[in-house]
Amino acid sequence: MTEGFHDNAAVIRFLTTDPADVGCEQTMELLHVYADLVLAGEYPEAHLPGIAAHLRDCNPCAEDLQGLLAPVGWPLDRSAAGVGVY
Ligand SMILES: [Zn+2]
Repeated sequence: MTEGFHDNAAVIRFLTTDPADVGCEQTMELLHVYADLVLAGEYPEAHLPGIAAHLRDCNPCAEDLQGLLAPVGWPLDRSAAGVGVY
């Protein structure tokens, strides 16, 4: 009998997090690239699916993306940015 496995917080986090999610660090590194794709009318989710997955789960990162898009007049519409709708 396996004991303690499903009580492990890391396992629970793994099971509840999108496996494509690249995490905050990589998202921060590539967020300007993601923003450029949004502004270029490309499909950021197709190019950077791991970041799109992260932005759906991480509010601080999603807000940073909005911060990159807002100054250039991009409407603060999460669905348009490929971030999903809450
Ligand atoms: Zn994040």
